[in-house]
Amino acid sequence: MRFVREKTVVQLTYLPKVFPVNCYLVEEKDDLTLVDAALPNNAKAILQAAEQIGKPITRIVLTHAHGDHIGALDSLKQQHPSVQVFISGRDARLLNGDRSLDAGESDSPIRGGVPKENAIRTKPDVLLQDGDRIGSLLAVAAPGHTPGSMAFLDTRNDSLIAGDAFQTRAGIAVSGQTKLLFPFPAMATWDKETSLKTALRLRDLKPTLLAVGHGNLMQQPLRAIERAIAAAERSLHSKMREENNRNVT
Ligand SMILES: [Zn+2]
Repeated sequence: MRFVREKTVVQLTYLPKVFPVNCYLVEEKDDLTLVDAALPNNAKAILQAAEQIGKPITRIVLTHAHGDHIGALDSLKQQHPSVQVFISGRDARLLNGDRSLDAGESDSPIRGGVPKENAIRTKPDVLLQDGDRIGSLLAVAAPGHTPGSMAFLDTRNDSLIAGDAFQTRAGIAVSGQTKLLFPFPAMATWDKETSLKTALRLRDLKPTLLAVGHGNLMQQPLRAIERAIAAAERSLHSKMREENNRNVT
């Protein structure tokens, strides 16, 4: 896996040129928090990266329950049973293969690769809520890509690990907005309107670094985020106009 260090965040990337899948090691004083767990065959490379830094992984925090973000979870937890696992309560249900929607949630199907029932053996230790702290990280509810997606802000330097709330591969985009050269995150997105609201909320955190599931790190990303939000607004509103016209005629 490619290893890129920026401030307190190390980005690990599987297949950076072809189909980039990222996970992150967040460095604390004595240990590391792994944010996301990439693909099943990445466990060894993740542990090697931790060894290279010289600190143990003591926490695994998941942005959401899609297969390319939880792949190495079971293997890592099996090898290091004392590691604590964190995910939102909402996406813990997805992690267990339950795609049902809650009352009040947008009535579109949950997309993307979600594990089958009982396929993942690891049971989360902590079900996260908006505002929880995990070491230096602040958990921020970031629904849209999945109903229970979360982003994590490193409060020491305002680096934002946003999962798939944005992509930066093939150009920055809000989750659900298709980039033709890398359409996969958009194809796996549950609800575009919710994603847009989340993008606005994440922008308001004024991140100094944007770290996403797919694509390179972005320094001082605020203007790029504004651009992505404007594009998503244009796309969603023109769609709404079309639908309104259709209803009238
Ligand atoms: Zn993803």
